[in-house]
Amino acid sequence: MPSPVIVWFRQDLRLSDNPALSAACELDTPIIPIYILDDVNAGNWKMGAASRVWLYHALKNLKNDLHGNLILCKGDAKTELEKIIKETGANAVYWNRCYEPWRISRDKEIKSSLDRQNVEVKSFNGSLIWEPWTIKNQSGENYKVFTPFYKKGCLAKGEPNQPIETPENITFFNDYKTTLKIEDLDLLPKREGNWDEDVIKDWDASEKGAHKRLHRLHDFLEHGLDGYKEGRNNPSEFHVSRLSPYLHWGHVSPRQIWHAAKLYAHATGIDIKDIEHFCSEIGWREFSYNLLYHFPDLPKENLQQKFDKFPWREPSEEELDKWRYGQTGYPIVDASMRELYQTGYMHNRSRMIVGSFLVKHMMVHWHHGEEWFWDCLFDADLASNSASWQWIAGCGADAAPYFRIFNPITQGEKFDQNGDYIRQYVPELKDLPTKYLYAPWNAPDDILRDVGVELGKTYPYPMVNHTEARERALEAFSSLKTT
Ligand code: FAD
Repeated sequence: MPSPVIVWFRQDLRLSDNPALSAACELDTPIIPIYILDDVNAGNWKMGAASRVWLYHALKNLKNDLHGNLILCKGDAKTELEKIIKETGANAVYWNRCYEPWRISRDKEIKSSLDRQNVEVKSFNGSLIWEPWTIKNQSGENYKVFTPFYKKGCLAKGEPNQPIETPENITFFNDYKTTLKIEDLDLLPKREGNWDEDVIKDWDASEKGAHKRLHRLHDFLEHGLDGYKEGRNNPSEFHVSRLSPYLHWGHVSPRQIWHAAKLYAHATGIDIKDIEHFCSEIGWREFSYNLLYHFPDLPKENLQQKFDKFPWREPSEEELDKWRYGQTGYPIVDASMRELYQTGYMHNRSRMIVGSFLVKHMMVHWHHGEEWFWDCLFDADLASNSASWQWIAGCGADAAPYFRIFNPITQGEKFDQNGDYIRQYVPELKDLPTKYLYAPWNAPDDILRDVGVELGKTYPYPMVNHTEARERALEAFSSLKTT
């Protein structure tokens, strides 16, 4: 019997278009699929609560797809891999590459250690279309601005490769004892109420779920892609794919999405602008990974160093909680923050509104926002989260300028015109006429009384005054120029 090969699943929890799995299956030897929960090496970037809930369900589903053949381990990945190798006599380990700095250094160490033990290590690209080291400008440097990165660096390389099919025959090696039960991973966090059950109820954390979202049930291609360029700005409309958790966990690959979207556009003749814009958002994901790879301090250090002197305010826990749990008194901000806590997802427009509110209206360091998103998002992703928080704070690559401050009243009026999104997540305001929904404190007393809203009791007064907060932020920003 030939020695088995370990296929180490990481951020690629799928069977189709999985290069590591396909390559292992081509060897004509049995495979050992494994997943290791490595909180030991993750340091500050141990998965947050929502990620752990997602992972719990995703691993159950992956194990099912592998007919029960998934070894689960917990601890330092190198130690765990070496245990399995010793027990099974495996002579190779295949994996798809990850790009977080802590994973890169851990994987390098594992590779050299296994090389010394004559265990073959092969790594593949299963998560990105364009890996960071393949995109350079004409001077051989990495890009810091999105449009040239995407147009001159990525698109100039031609169409991404076609995805690969699920291997037809997978032979499993099952002569092993070392495996934990999913419950032993202790993934489900203890938060108030049934949060861990409620937050996931509308999601199917599996490869099937990703394709359903793309093609069938929530048929984004049919109902969302047409009109994407404009519609993507409106959180209550069905114009975004909500594929980000599936991409983050690798239930679907970016090139599968890319080609599915292009094929659909070709077959139906929808406006080319919509499809191009959608693909460019996948490009933003690639850009974030590129930044993280070239600037491994991205999650903690301002890319623009002048922001190191920014006079951030130190918030109290009470103040932060108002933002975290949607009690700021600005309905569009509160709807967005409650969407996050209740569903593990937040629309991109909403992420920009609440991000701007935190760093500009509250003048709180973007790290606080990054940390809360890390804990609450199903798509919490070191690359996209850090790059996007730096973008919104004005200190990142190709960032929104700090002096562009979103008005939390007009953003609601513009992007939630009927008020559906606010009414869904801030039900205590649902009977307010739409014209007062974005700034309830402007509503006449009798109207507030008629709809049962008592400001300061059933819904808070704004925690900061928009005009004053805007001026304070601009003044702080101008202090950067004079120092
Ligand atoms: P769609 O509009 O359907 O886009 C398709 C895919 O493109 C997304 O699934 C995503 O993978 C990618 N994408 C879209 N917009 C962006 C973007 N601006 N940057 C990077 N990739 C993008 N995205 C994450 O995946 N994880 C995060 O942790 C994350 N944190 C963010 C924090 C802030 C403050 C902001 C402003 C944005 C953040 N984003 C993050 C980016 C973006 O908001 C989400 O990717 C997007 O909202 C996901 O929804 P969707 O799948 O419906 O997007």
